[in-house]
Amino acid sequence: MDLRYTPDEVAFGDELRAWLREVLPTVGPRPPMDNFEARRVYDTAWQRMLFDAGYAGINWPKQFGGRGASPAEQLIFLEETERAGAPYVGLNFVGQLHAGPTLIAEASPEQQAAHLPSILRGDEIWCQGFSEPGAGSDLASLRTRGVRDGDVYVVSGQKIWTSNAQVADFCELLVRTDPDAPKHRGISWLILPMTLPGIEIRPLRTIAGSNEFSEVFFDDVRVPVANRVGAENDGWRVAMVTFSFERGTAFVSEMIQSQVLLADLAELARKLPKGGGSALDDGGVRRELGRLAADLDALTALTKRNISQAARDGVPGVGGSVFKLYYSEVRARMGDLGMRLLDRAALSFDDVGGLATSEHVLGRIHALSITIAAGTSQIQRNIVGERILGLPKER
Ligand SMILES: Cc1cc2nc3c(=O)[nH]c(=O)nc-3n(C[C@H](O)[C@H](O)[C@H](O)COP(=O)(O)OP(=O)(O)OC[C@H]3O[C@@H](n4cnc5c(N)ncnc54)[C@H](O)[C@@H]3O)c2cc1C
Repeated sequence: MDLRYTPDEVAFGDELRAWLREVLPTVGPRPPMDNFEARRVYDTAWQRMLFDAGYAGINWPKQFGGRGASPAEQLIFLEETERAGAPYVGLNFVGQLHAGPTLIAEASPEQQAAHLPSILRGDEIWCQGFSEPGAGSDLASLRTRGVRDGDVYVVSGQKIWTSNAQVADFCELLVRTDPDAPKHRGISWLILPMTLPGIEIRPLRTIAGSNEFSEVFFDDVRVPVANRVGAENDGWRVAMVTFSFERGTAFVSEMIQSQVLLADLAELARKLPKGGGSALDDGGVRRELGRLAADLDALTALTKRNISQAARDGVPGVGGSVFKLYYSEVRARMGDLGMRLLDRAALSFDDVGGLATSEHVLGRIHALSITIAAGTSQIQRNIVGERILGLPKER
């Protein structure tokens, strides 16, 4: 791609900035992270504002109600909204960033008509029901059953780590529909309405005290066969499409946020006293800040490549695994630098000494979770080794 912006792209950015200036003052403060009902109202209201202004589904094709923006416009959109402090995609994450795109690539016209406009308007929140207690990295071992009974699948079993299940309307659900087939071949991808009888959601508590994850139990839940995306037992292939979006492009706005966080870290170093001066006088600290800035620049270039590839091929390629792996390591190093700067203040979840220290402590824990979410770092290394470097397959 040409890395310079064209006059049209510059005009797109100008128009977007003007719109953000006008609407952001009307958007209230973000609700607390543990108030899921308030977050739902806030996040879906922002999604509706984007929809009404023609910015929803920025990279979705026009025929599915998106803006059909070019890769460059997509990046301008992410940069400008982040820079202006606009609300994050939040609870709309799964619907906007990987369930919706999977439906575009794989679903029937009826399924697309039933869900894509509602996702874009912010009327539907989605969650992801993939992981199980015995099936995380080895997802293909999943055991939740979907037994065919006429025109329904009777679903029974358990999912875990289901983010935001308590406010979701629909779930992208993987179930085993053929227990006798080889494990990758007996899986189907279903659209699960979360209101069906037989679903029980039990929130879990994380080390940071938050409760965004849940266990979800299914007791003979009757899901229409018409809700299956792709062919019966072809769900593994559909799930790989979901993962390519989840790893390839869904972390892009996070990465842009990281640039803001790095500037905050530099500011923190400037404010923290050290030996008559500030922590920023330490050559080691300055060097690590410089390295992190260079790494984020490199990741930005990789992002442009991945977005261009997704725009060209319809789905992101395996480069998403390279991005996700390296991004998670950069975030961990940013977190480590924050801990080093904070010293004993890093032991508290509260702000200490009149400085915004808690965001760096929580940021370090968040960095750890990024090395696990959407496939662990070890799994990404296996993918890079086998599919990019051509190393022998894991047995
Ligand atoms: C923030 C966050 C959000 C999440 N949201 C969701 C969600 O909404 N829906 C959902 O379904 N899941 C979700 N997950 C779950 C996530 O997908 C799993 O945690 C992840 O796939 C790892 O599975 P596991 O936890 O069972 O770990 P395990 O698979 O048990 O792995 C344990 C350790 O063994 C290593 N390991 C395993 N197999 C191999 C191998 N073959 N080679 C080398 N090392 C290996 C792993 O890398 C890891 O270090 C979320 C997780 C996080 C952290």
